[in-house]
Amino acid sequence: MIQTDVIIIGAGPVGLFAVFEAGLLKLKCHLIDSLPQPGGQCSEIYPKKPIYDIPGFPSVLAGELVNNLLEQAAPFKPGFTLGEAAQDIEQQADGSFIVTTVKGTKHHAPVVMIAGGLGVFEPRKPPIETLHLFEEKGVDYMIKDPEVYRDKRCVIAGGGDSALDWSIFLAERNIASKVTLVHRSSSFRGHLDSVQKVIDLADAGRIELITEAEVTGLNGGSRLEQVVIRHSANGEIVTEADHFIPLFGLKPSLGPIANWGLEIEKGAIKVDTLDYSTNIPGIYAIGDVNTYEGKLKLILCGFHEGTIALQSAFARIHPEKKNVLKYTTVNGIQGF
Ligand SMILES: Cc1cc2nc3c(=O)[nH]c(=O)nc-3n(C[C@H](O)[C@H](O)[C@H](O)COP(=O)(O)OP(=O)(O)OC[C@H]3O[C@@H](n4cnc5c(N)ncnc54)[C@H](O)[C@@H]3O)c2cc1C
Repeated sequence: MIQTDVIIIGAGPVGLFAVFEAGLLKLKCHLIDSLPQPGGQCSEIYPKKPIYDIPGFPSVLAGELVNNLLEQAAPFKPGFTLGEAAQDIEQQADGSFIVTTVKGTKHHAPVVMIAGGLGVFEPRKPPIETLHLFEEKGVDYMIKDPEVYRDKRCVIAGGGDSALDWSIFLAERNIASKVTLVHRSSSFRGHLDSVQKVIDLADAGRIELITEAEVTGLNGGSRLEQVVIRHSANGEIVTEADHFIPLFGLKPSLGPIANWGLEIEKGAIKVDTLDYSTNIPGIYAIGDVNTYEGKLKLILCGFHEGTIALQSAFARIHPEKKNVLKYTTVNGIQGF
């Protein structure tokens, strides 16, 4: 049984920063994540993308942000159970909780902080018969390391920000030898400036833009060799390709947490914005996993939510102690 003060479910950016804020309050944390590495969406979906809205960082790569958060949390020696989804929760007679993972690892703490983000997420896959044959052999549902696509012919499908941004990234930096963007409509859901950039790159001959079209087939042997595109007016186009990257977003699913008796609204956990507590006293929800009026799914909002929630958690764990807010500039960092 792993014993700690706060069990944090989800080692995304919000869970990692919560370790630091807990540490300032002398609360020890243990993180559980179903992924094999910490960082949540930042590590899993877009580690090499720059983020521009982290206060104090005009630009920081998502992977770099995760490394910085790990470094910031390190003095407080968090424990990690990685590669195991939290499956069950059991409240004890004294109000504390035991959280058990799919592999049976048990964790015990007076407080549980759910920072589960999008939950256990799955990419949306296009209905192409041979798709599964080329998974890991040319078909990728997310771009983790753009260098994989250096000097390769890439067909990206989708009309949202991911499809637009990665097409721009791979073409503008001359990473891929050819970038084809396929979208079923002629209007895009992404940011207007990204749409304009794609159009400009298409005009300059650096992106092959095929709209009103869908990828309907994949051909190849041991690896992907061709992508079949059906255009609404021109019929079938067969293009040579090393990679097909359908970027149709992720299917958000709370996973096992949905069965824990928490109040759920539209796939997210309802919280009281006073302290980001859930309907079960002792369980808090912070970051992308929660919902309330005016919620913004942004990293900086999750950082704030975790900070406030931990003040409340401290009062729950130590009802006899009064916590006085101390600046880090005054007190410094006293690790464990
Ligand atoms: C392409 C892209 C670009 C983005 N750009 C920005 C941006 O510029 N600025 C910004 O602020 N935000 C951006 N975001 C959003 C940002 O990534 C999220 O707001 C942020 O990751 C939320 O952090 P989190 O820690 O709450 O959740 P997540 O990062 O989703 O991490 C949650 C973790 O919980 C784990 N988990 C879930 N359920 C369980 C379970 N039952 N057991 C164990 N582990 C579990 C998951 O595996 C995951 O690792 C972007 C998102 C994407 C996809």
